[in-house]
Amino acid sequence: MPQTKPDILSILRGEHVRFLRLQFTDILGLNKNVEVPASQFEKALDGEIMFDGSSIEGFTRIEESDMLLKPDYDTFVVFPDELEDPRRGRVARLICDVAKPDGTPFEGDPRGILKRQIERLQKLGFDNLYAGPEPEFFLFTRTPEGLPTTETHDAAGYFDLAPIDKGEEARRDMVNVLVAMGFEIEASHHEVAPGQHEIDFKYTDALKAADNITTFKFVVKRVALTHGLHATFMPKPIAGISGSGMHMHLSLFKKGENAFFDPKGQHQLSKTALHFIGGLLEHADGMVAITNPLVNSYKRLTPGYEAPTNIAWSASNRSAMIRVPARRGVGTRAELRMPDPSCNPYLALAVMIGAGLDGIEGRIEPPPPIQRNIYQMSVRDRRKHRVRELPGTLREALEALQKDRVVRNALGEHAYEHFLRAKRIEWDSYRIAVHQWELDQYLAEY
Ligand code: GLN
Ligand code: MG
Ligand code: MG
Ligand code: MG
Repeated sequence: MPQTKPDILSILRGEHVRFLRLQFTDILGLNKNVEVPASQFEKALDGEIMFDGSSIEGFTRIEESDMLLKPDYDTFVVFPDELEDPRRGRVARLICDVAKPDGTPFEGDPRGILKRQIERLQKLGFDNLYAGPEPEFFLFTRTPEGLPTTETHDAAGYFDLAPIDKGEEARRDMVNVLVAMGFEIEASHHEVAPGQHEIDFKYTDALKAADNITTFKFVVKRVALTHGLHATFMPKPIAGISGSGMHMHLSLFKKGENAFFDPKGQHQLSKTALHFIGGLLEHADGMVAITNPLVNSYKRLTPGYEAPTNIAWSASNRSAMIRVPARRGVGTRAELRMPDPSCNPYLALAVMIGAGLDGIEGRIEPPPPIQRNIYQMSVRDRRKHRVRELPGTLREALEALQKDRVVRNALGEHAYEHFLRAKRIEWDSYRIAVHQWELDQYLAEY
């Protein structure tokens, strides 16, 4: 329910809120915020708080360095006491759009970029894209000095009902805080690897889903800290065991009905669904730099750990990049399995919409679904079934992004340029570093 300025002011007063966090994300998806005390609440609600954008990744054009924060009233929440110690004063937050000093939207703001893609699909008559994310993460111990390790203190596996351990306890607290903040949590469970967890939230419209993901990351890290743990969304913190993905369940709705469902269609899927899937497959290599943006992301996209390595879709197989779960009717959806939780959720959803709409507009037919385990298919078989490989490194992904007009258009020139620049620097710094692996392999031998 959209709130009004007087509503919010009266809640702020009634709940004795002392600080208001104005949140937004930079191009890399990192949470940023400007915190204002009670004397500035009115000004903040009027969207008159300025910040210096020049120090924030992706906002770096000097002539535009003063930016305005325009709060979205629908995102108002007073933080539960478990999250912010009330003895220092209660804290509330609003997620903001970023505007230029003249009040017009800043074209490099990730939230604005997603909004533009949502408008595009609404122009085509869709209500919205609904997204249900399944973020995975690890809980690691900290050293006595508070530094994160890659050590866990649990030995449980997938869905295990082990005697409750520290990680499970922390996860329960995370769920409690999220529920108190208005999240609908569908499930939470231990994942395959030791110390790995997953919390699934109910699908919502794309903008809210992206807002939820940023809030979720903040809450998970915060609550982990209060348990003396470190939560990480790094996609592959430990070689040789599962990495962390963030599967995204996607469906388009039209006039209140699921536009992916057609009882008479092929696989009971509508043309809209097939073309949307066709677009996602067509642009998969172009968008993977956005959905899997770290050097480390590509160490997760390797065979054997339920993470996709090939561009294919399937009605059931978990080795495919897109899986269509068995549910039909209102629950008909495509599960995109390559994204990982280090992505900027606004940009990731924006490029998913861009790719899917290109499929719908261009009536792109997907190749036949693959029902076999793709990890076990030979190179020849894959070629025969038109199964391409996903880029194997961030560098290859950046090359594919540069060639993909549709994905670039979805991002807009400003975000595209800044993203590419930041990621090239990241790749170069990785490329020239000498890694432990090289020392282990070569130092003694050569
Ligand atoms: N951790 C796996 C990945 O990297 C997914 C495991 C699962 O949810 N079944 O995508
Ligand atoms: Mg899951
Ligand atoms: Mg999972
Ligand atoms: Mg899943």
